[in-house]
Amino acid sequence: MAVKMVIFAPDVMESLLTYSKMAYPNEGILILRGKSKKGVVRVTSLMVPPAAIHAHSYSSFNWSMLPLDLSYIGVAHSHPSGNANPSDQDRLHATGRIMVIMGYPFASTSHVGVFDHNGNRVPFEVGDVSK
Ligand SMILES: [Zn+2]
Repeated sequence: MAVKMVIFAPDVMESLLTYSKMAYPNEGILILRGKSKKGVVRVTSLMVPPAAIHAHSYSSFNWSMLPLDLSYIGVAHSHPSGNANPSDQDRLHATGRIMVIMGYPFASTSHVGVFDHNGNRVPFEVGDVSK
């Protein structure tokens, strides 16, 4: 089923922006965990990938190191360039249900883009993910 809406836990959204600022001027990459039901994806927690990859680009990320358990729903990464749209490489390497891109200066949700695995933009909000 296509992803219709994505809901982020408030602390998850805050961590995405903070982590992107910390990684700047490099790309920061985080694994998204949560659940997907009836086209609504809820992002409940984040995981730092199991290797120091801050200095590497998203496209050179070693996907075989991802823990592909049931709560894995996608990957978030930052664009130090400021453009929160997926690059051709991002579309090529998209994995999971959703792809989240944080664009410089990572100040608020207006610098965040959420996409399905085809690169189509998906609406999102920050709210209660406990349901
Ligand atoms: Zn990218």
